[in-house]
Amino acid sequence: MLVVMKQSATEPEIERVVNTIEDMGYEARPIPGRQRTAIGLIGNDGRVDSARLEGLEGVLEVIVVSHPYKQVSREWKAEDTVVELFNGTRIGGSDIVIMAGPCAVESEEQIVEVARSLREMGATILRGGAFKPRTSPYSFQGLGEEGLRLLALAREATGMAIVTEAVDPDGVEAVAETADIIQIGARNMQNYPLLRRAGRVGKPVLLKRGMSATIKELLLAAEYLLAEGNGDVILCERGVRSFDTHTRNLLDLTAIPVVQSLSHLPIIADPSHGTGLRSKVTPMARAAIAAGADGLMVEVHPQPDRALSDGAQSLYPEQFGELMEQIRVIAKALDRGFVPALAPPVVR
Ligand code: PEP
Ligand code: MN
Repeated sequence: MLVVMKQSATEPEIERVVNTIEDMGYEARPIPGRQRTAIGLIGNDGRVDSARLEGLEGVLEVIVVSHPYKQVSREWKAEDTVVELFNGTRIGGSDIVIMAGPCAVESEEQIVEVARSLREMGATILRGGAFKPRTSPYSFQGLGEEGLRLLALAREATGMAIVTEAVDPDGVEAVAETADIIQIGARNMQNYPLLRRAGRVGKPVLLKRGMSATIKELLLAAEYLLAEGNGDVILCERGVRSFDTHTRNLLDLTAIPVVQSLSHLPIIADPSHGTGLRSKVTPMARAAIAAGADGLMVEVHPQPDRALSDGAQSLYPEQFGELMEQIRVIAKALDRGFVPALAPPVVR
């Protein structure tokens, strides 16, 4: 951190900054210049409150040199993090991973039927909300515990791993009993008590970018999980708010290479929530793979016109099959493969 003094700053004002830095427990190193003095703060451990320095007389600005996040950064860990699941799926390696399924679990028939066709088409992780964070309190809120039970049945029937959302801190343990990956939704990205609980429960976490969150805020939210001891974190770009009303959100594909340069954590894209429109999901899924995403999360429903949530953005299973064919070609051009498809489970 560098504290830049005004040209007019006096010696006592510079002294005061030096003393404050030392009071805070860090080393201060004044760097006198031709026009002004800057004071380096040495040993920033991420806990420095720059506001204490910004308010002092004679200070022009405080420049933060190191990142506010530590453990999520590439400086902390140079090699890519790879999250491994029970069924052999590895997220963050050279293979692309596909998570697909309906927005919400609605019935045994719906979830098991769609899981079977998704497994056949090459998805290895099944998504489906049991607890749904809906914008309106009157919308379908999910089947709750029953939804978790149905997801476990679908896993048994297909061998797919399960990703499903936890919406509040007290619900984390129950979700973790069934889920192979706990999803933290966009609306909850900065729910810090929820992040802390999810960081302690011992399961990988899929952290979705908040709809108005900067990339820095996303990485700081992930830092909460790592700070609790959970390194198995997957980030997800799912679109941010924009001024344009043609799509539900603006899928920020730039976030993919930006995150990859700043962090060792895997990042996937969700073109379903990112666009909100079925016809736009496939083009943006292709673009996300081309941009270097480690995988996709795609909403697929056996009968989207009857879906209890997000039907308008859910692909028909056949459309998902076509998408898979197309992204295989794109992945190949990037020298990337796909997580191997799961063999059909043995029926006893
Ligand atoms: C979801 O994945 O079902 C969901 C609610 O997504 P988001 O949190 O990105 O809105
Ligand atoms: Mn949804």
